[in-house]
Amino acid sequence: RNYRSRTECRGDIQRLNPSFLTIYESLIPPNEEKEKQKQLMALLDKHVKKEWPEARLFLYGSCANSFGFRKSDIDVCLAIGDADIDKAEILLKLADILKSDHLENVQALTRARVPIVKLMDPTTGISCDICVNNLLAVINTKLLRDYSKIDVRLRQLAFIIKHWAKSRGVNETYQGTLSSYAYVLMCIHFLQMRSPPILPCLQEMETTYKINVDNVECSYFDQVDKLQGFGSRNNETIAQLVWGFFNYWAHSHDYANDVISIRSGSLVSKRAKDWTRRIGNDRHLICIEDPFEVSHDLGRVVDKRSIRVLREEFERAAEIMQFDPNPCVKLFEPY
Ligand code: ATP
Ligand code: MG
Repeated sequence: RNYRSRTECRGDIQRLNPSFLTIYESLIPPNEEKEKQKQLMALLDKHVKKEWPEARLFLYGSCANSFGFRKSDIDVCLAIGDADIDKAEILLKLADILKSDHLENVQALTRARVPIVKLMDPTTGISCDICVNNLLAVINTKLLRDYSKIDVRLRQLAFIIKHWAKSRGVNETYQGTLSSYAYVLMCIHFLQMRSPPILPCLQEMETTYKINVDNVECSYFDQVDKLQGFGSRNNETIAQLVWGFFNYWAHSHDYANDVISIRSGSLVSKRAKDWTRRIGNDRHLICIEDPFEVSHDLGRVVDKRSIRVLREEFERAAEIMQFDPNPCVKLFEPY
């Protein structure tokens, strides 16, 4: 590779801010959508409580972590106290209960990697996936949402990166590219590493929130109202950050040795995690540590072929950000 890390950004970078902000704003869900989600949750809750009075429903994923686009489906977690229950049995029962209402296309997918019930609500037009006892996802959803409240530039950056990844076809875990969750972690890490930092490392601060889920201790500082203005010593704009993000993943990241870790607010070494060689299907070609399940590499879906696709896309985006007179057209061009 003859690319070298660029330290000098194009001189007219600030000119690009209005186009990025327009795209960001066009992707934000309108308030009516939140209302419809609540309406559907209330309906689901009514049915669930009848069968399992102790159970609770939680929203998780992009509909609750503040990184969701308009018209997204919703992800719901049914929390049933007992850890030893047979999930398939619960899901089949749940599907039966929901079929009796006006809901459409109700299906239990009990053999999926994450078993779910899928359905569509014709009243609100919202599709929804319901899983059972996936509480870590509920907690990491809260962590992402809390980060997004600290500095608006996280939400702006993550929207642009997710929109780019969806447009370029590199947001498909079944094809070996990365999940939206992984891209948001990459954005948080990037903003933690700015100098001065735009985001703190909440898991290294005083513990104000603590919960034990599936034997994983989850704790961090969640009083984020107290962190307003944390990033104000850094005045980088969205255009500079998009430029910097792609430049980092195209030319600076050390894929051979480094793991990004929002848990520690820094890079950690692959050697320290014993992620230096392939074990089973985990190749560790790009390493993104889960903030709570720290043995879990979100890059594990990436293989020899898809790492090339990803890196070529980062390089393409970095070139466009550096040289294209109007990057917002080419950057999001369908692949
Ligand atoms: P999209 O807008 O593309 O639907 P999303 O935020 O719903 O994005 P997904 O990647 O579909 O993102 O993940 C949904 C949620 O599931 C995440 O917010 C996270 O809570 C959880 N999740 C997804 N993948 C993982 C994973 N590999 N490990 C732990 N939790 C995960
Ligand atoms: Mg989703």
